[in-house]
Amino acid sequence: MRRSVLLNTIVFNIAAITTAMTSTPNEISNLSPISNVVIAIAMEAEASPFINHLSLEKDATFFPANSPFQAFRGKYETCEVTVITNGKDDVYGTGVDNVGTVPAALATYLALAKLDGQADLLINAGTCGGFKSNGAGIGDVFLTTGIANHDRRIPIPGFDSYGIGKIESTDVRQLADDLDMKTGVCTTGNSLDMHDVDELNMKKNDASVKDMEAAAIAWSCQLHKTPFLGVKVVTDIVDGDKPTQEEFMSNLHAASQSLQVSLPKVLAHVCGRKHDEL
Ligand code: SAH
Repeated sequence: MRRSVLLNTIVFNIAAITTAMTSTPNEISNLSPISNVVIAIAMEAEASPFINHLSLEKDATFFPANSPFQAFRGKYETCEVTVITNGKDDVYGTGVDNVGTVPAALATYLALAKLDGQADLLINAGTCGGFKSNGAGIGDVFLTTGIANHDRRIPIPGFDSYGIGKIESTDVRQLADDLDMKTGVCTTGNSLDMHDVDELNMKKNDASVKDMEAAAIAWSCQLHKTPFLGVKVVTDIVDGDKPTQEEFMSNLHAASQSLQVSLPKVLAHVCGRKHDEL
């Protein structure tokens, strides 16, 4: 009798070890508390208050030397934190921030590859446009329930869904309740303004907020099987009456300060919890 219990235990343990060995690193880390978080922020102005607040240190060796991306690393409570920003444009000689999907996907991919399965969660933090028709107001902090693209129009069966490219975020309902933040879909495209055709697609995506990076970042997270969520502060109202760029510029500073307040709250909630406890 006792021998068969022992035998069962051994068989069970071997099965558990085999399952763990065949899982990807992130499936394994999903079983353990979150202790390593990457925060992807496109613009330096958005990231600086938070980097200073956490006294993160620049790690000049984190990204390949020929990439424009920047990494700032340190600890917050029980978590290792790496903030990545997209750096400044040198390719076109403009010197402005590398906003948009191409740098965002590449920076995220390189960061997760460098961390080699250690990252338990990636948070995309930044500013966004908000749809007042979906409950957004200036200064609101949104947690993403999912992302989609609105400027990848490919009307061929199969490619149409590929173009829209919907990806779900990790479950943010409890987090939003606890921190009193709004939730919704973030729709991504490579333009700050809103084109008529894009507008239809944003509505189809049931977007609450609009940005230029989230969908690209989530795509790279999928490749690495790293759970993703967005923390987005509304700088401008897309379906309002003010020109987006003016509203964006006048609210950028306040929104970046707001990220400095809301991001530590999000980190305090997620660090030390397992994904199914979020
Ligand atoms: N004129 C600005 C340009 C920033 S581009 C400057 O020089 O500082 C806008 C950035 O903010 C992108 O990273 C994007 O993700 C976010 N964003 C804010 N409001 C947006 C909106 N209405 N539509 C798309 N992206 C928006």
